[in-house]
Amino acid sequence: MAEKNIVLLGATGSIGESTLKVARGHPERVKLVGIAANSRYEELASIAREFGVKEVALFDRKAAAAARTSGLFPEGTRIHEGPEGLVHLATLDSANLVVMAVVGTLGLHPALAAIRAKKTLALASKEILVLAGKFVMAEAVRLQVPIVPLDSEHNAIFQCLHAEPHRHVDRLILTASGGQFRDATLEQMRLVTPAQALKHPNWNMGPKITVDSSTMANKGLELIEARWLFDLPQERIDIVVHPQSIIHSMVQFIDGSILAQLSPPSMTFAIQHCIFYPDRAVGVVPTLDFSQVMRLDIRPPNYEKFPCLQLARNASSTAGIAPAIFNAANEIAVAAFLKDKIPFLGIPSIIEQTLESIPAREPTDLDDVLAADAEARIKATESIGALALTA
Ligand code: NDP
Ligand code: MG
Repeated sequence: MAEKNIVLLGATGSIGESTLKVARGHPERVKLVGIAANSRYEELASIAREFGVKEVALFDRKAAAAARTSGLFPEGTRIHEGPEGLVHLATLDSANLVVMAVVGTLGLHPALAAIRAKKTLALASKEILVLAGKFVMAEAVRLQVPIVPLDSEHNAIFQCLHAEPHRHVDRLILTASGGQFRDATLEQMRLVTPAQALKHPNWNMGPKITVDSSTMANKGLELIEARWLFDLPQERIDIVVHPQSIIHSMVQFIDGSILAQLSPPSMTFAIQHCIFYPDRAVGVVPTLDFSQVMRLDIRPPNYEKFPCLQLARNASSTAGIAPAIFNAANEIAVAAFLKDKIPFLGIPSIIEQTLESIPAREPTDLDDVLAADAEARIKATESIGALALTA
């Protein structure tokens, strides 16, 4: 048995690809025992063949049926399907680490199942914590299962916090690239097209998070994610723009000292840290070269141009169901923007309207949060309809 037996949910995505790169670089220490995707079974089959994976899952049942008759998977591969297929993979006996990199919140139940099965969770899917951080963190604490943050900013903070007690921490400083419209005027932002929003200057990521970076909703989601992972209120989490994406985030301690984690903008650094934590291994891509002149700029973000930042701060202070509403409305608004149904600046408007339309309350349990999520999706869809009519 290898030292790290990994289940990778979201294997065909951008985080999935970087995780495979790390696995490829450490064949003696890392074994892939399960992989899942939504529907792209041909890509999943090619990963199964390369890594000899015998347990696979496709969320989409039609894709699973097509996969079974495709002849593309190695002999003896078990092809699971639907939400229960993801849960089955997340709890495989042979796995000791689950990398959760499914876009959106559909990974919530598999993530909880992995925690209950005592698998270390390397968490990329930030939306899960924004939706239900209170319940996911409580379960991890109750069962003493480590959640290792894979999102680069949170991974950086996690590394800076190594062995530091909570009382030593004054503030967290999240860095943001500022996205592709960091230097655009509000006038230019009104006219942004999906094709423009899908091009990130520093990172090569999936479409949803690329749009989230362009509105800075991504940093808003990360603020809420940090609130749950590190148990600090939003007032003690700063956001700064750092266009080079080399300082991945920082921690300011009570004595005023600040620690930062630096590496090139490749997710392999954070992923590899999660996989080997608390150990380390040789990196799979070259690190920074300080023999070359390098600039590291830092500046405050523009809250006027990026209203998603303040909306996320408000949602985080309101706590209760507000972060879940923020997340659901954002997801619906991004999908509508990508289908040309609303303008770019419609995304923060839809989030704001949805937050205003649902009274804040403290969720009683996970089902209550999921009900708020469903209600927010309906309200956001209605607001999109209204916005489209007035446009
Ligand atoms: P991508 O869009 O590139 O990939 C998404 C992956 O999720 C694909 O493998 C897709 O499968 C799979 N998927 C989608 N829906 C389901 C489902 N219902 N069941 C099973 N699998 C599903 O996304 P990213 O890799 O960019 O992002 C993944 C997560 O990681 C997001 O939550 C994002 O916020 C987070 N993250 C990403 C970073 C990045 O650099 N990309 C950085 C930090 C965090 P299929 O191919 O079949 O559609
Ligand atoms: Mg990030």
